[in-house]
Amino acid sequence: MIDPKTVSNILNELGEDREDYFNAIAPPIMQTSNFAFKKVDDFRDALENESSRYLYSRGINPTVQILSQKLAALDCAEDCLVFNSGAAAIFTSVFANIKSGDHIISVEKPYTWAQKMFNNVLPRFNVSVTYVDGRNIENFEKAIQPNTTLIYLESPNSWTFYLQDLAAVAKLARSKKIITICDNSYCTPLYQRPIQLGIDLTLQSATKYINGHSDVVAGVLSGTKAMVKKIFSSEYMNMGIGTTPFNAWLLIRGLRTLQVRLTRISQTTQIIVNYLKSHEEVEDLTFPFDKDFRQYDLAKKQMDGACGLFSFYIKTDSIKKIELFCESMQHIIMAVSWGGYESLIMPNCASVKEEDFDANNKEQRKLRMYVGLEDPQYIIEDLERGFDAMK
Ligand SMILES: *Cc1c(COP(=O)(O)O)cnc(C)c1O
Repeated sequence: MIDPKTVSNILNELGEDREDYFNAIAPPIMQTSNFAFKKVDDFRDALENESSRYLYSRGINPTVQILSQKLAALDCAEDCLVFNSGAAAIFTSVFANIKSGDHIISVEKPYTWAQKMFNNVLPRFNVSVTYVDGRNIENFEKAIQPNTTLIYLESPNSWTFYLQDLAAVAKLARSKKIITICDNSYCTPLYQRPIQLGIDLTLQSATKYINGHSDVVAGVLSGTKAMVKKIFSSEYMNMGIGTTPFNAWLLIRGLRTLQVRLTRISQTTQIIVNYLKSHEEVEDLTFPFDKDFRQYDLAKKQMDGACGLFSFYIKTDSIKKIELFCESMQHIIMAVSWGGYESLIMPNCASVKEEDFDANNKEQRKLRMYVGLEDPQYIIEDLERGFDAMK
């Protein structure tokens, strides 16, 4: 577990040197594209060391720098880069580590845009992908080919909630000189630190818990200094996909409350999970910190907590009833994403045509729920409203 005092220090102080900006408590938004020099020698040095000096804001910017110091420290990583989306962090982490002819092993059903990259973009560059059920380490072993250079993980998976034994996969990959990447959006570094378990690169959608207020899209990628520098000097600068000073400022602001938000959400989620599990209209529920979860022991071993995202299955033979459930609630919002202050619901049947609905297919009766910062009873009463509407 990461020491809570260390976390407080990172969130409140690390990277903030107030003497640089009139002793203002809140750091300024350094809204500038470029930086000035008085001496050619100094200018020369900045041109040579763009990855560590203020020269041009597509590279390093002071507000973004404060944020990235905090995020790298939370990840227990040497360095990190902040992107203008989690998808950009995913794309870059993979793209920077492959060449034509390579083979990638990915967990099945990774985040949508990771999957679209694997299926639609990489084949154009002669890179192939094998999807495996990551719950069993043997599936990784069996999928390794002579040209496998990368293993892509997401634990817990934000849709299936499947876990991978990160330490075991990292050990296997290291023995074969294969690079490992883990999408850690579900846990955030407060609840899981893949780098400490031996994973090479950890990434997350900062849109979710890091920002936490449903008003910024951003991503983080952390690793060793050498790896981050290599990515900075190539993909990051080439594509110009860094976050902006304003969004970095909002993310710093979001980080101030990360610890309290996660604690609150974890507590409320347990209450909501218990309520739903005992509800007669609920067939089943999937949440990594639920005692009946298939990989509960692994979850307890490698995660320090579980957040507000889980799924449950409604007992019904009618798609209309699921629609009524979702549409009758007055506070829980129907929307994609998660990690903000607001509770959300996402029915799987939203991607099923009414005439194609098959109640025997449990997946079509699945709802993904995200628990926000509201009072637990407020959420339960709203769920009750949804169940009542189904009667
Ligand atoms: C949202 C999400 C992403 C993508 O992040 P964006 O900030 O939306 O680009 C990646 N992985 C997971 C697990 C996510 O939930």
